[in-house]
Amino acid sequence: MAKRIDEEIEVTLQALKRRGLDARFAENRRVARQMVAAMVPEHWIVGCGDSATIRSIGVLQDLMDMGNRVLDYHIWPKIMREKPQRVPLRVMKQTSQGCDVFLSSSNAVTMDGKLVNIDGAGIRVTGMVFGPLLSIVVVGKNKIVRDVDAALHRIKNVIAPFHLKTIGWDSPCVAAGQCVEPATFCQPERRACNVTVVLESRPSSTDIDIAVIIVDEDLGLGWDPAWPQERTGRIQAEYIRWTPPHGPRR
Ligand code: SF4
Repeated sequence: MAKRIDEEIEVTLQALKRRGLDARFAENRRVARQMVAAMVPEHWIVGCGDSATIRSIGVLQDLMDMGNRVLDYHIWPKIMREKPQRVPLRVMKQTSQGCDVFLSSSNAVTMDGKLVNIDGAGIRVTGMVFGPLLSIVVVGKNKIVRDVDAALHRIKNVIAPFHLKTIGWDSPCVAAGQCVEPATFCQPERRACNVTVVLESRPSSTDIDIAVIIVDEDLGLGWDPAWPQERTGRIQAEYIRWTPPHGPRR
């Protein structure tokens, strides 16, 4: 018997559909993995946007087994052959703009159907909306928020400090436990939040298909500080497991 969809997820799915996005529901990560693998033709070039969610569902290995070339410069040595100290720009460019399908998650998805993301280099947020023929965004239910304001607040004050600590950067929010702006300007040399993209609906004048799979499971980085420690601790531990240390900032 099909699992009953939570009201919060149902509302979000309907809102995404109204905005022209191919919104789908997956009961768990196993189903999401099968859905993604079924959507990607064999021998396509697959780009991946530094996503713990995508790594954690296991689909990258499936796609490689199918004969696809997978570009995710954070999975070394399998793909890059060596741990990059500084990822060349041409590799970043190919990862997001030279692929047929781009896989990513979203920092947050709002209940009125918007995808909200903040990026350091812009690879993830550009590949998600322009370049590939198909963009597949896999989102755990823990990333659903009320609206764009709630998303931006959570990304800056919950996600960024934890993410930056995990990858070993010393941005000011790591010590402060929250974004230091607007009280103090976060200087470019220590800043990770450089590109903010809110996808409000399917981009026009392009035939890119954007599928958003909402998974009825906690996946990737995102939580409400009011949630029980047991749940947030599980989310954090899994994120650390699927997030390799990154190279130094430029
Ligand atoms: S702007 Fe700076 S301090 Fe604020 S969340 Fe981003 S990196 Fe951290």
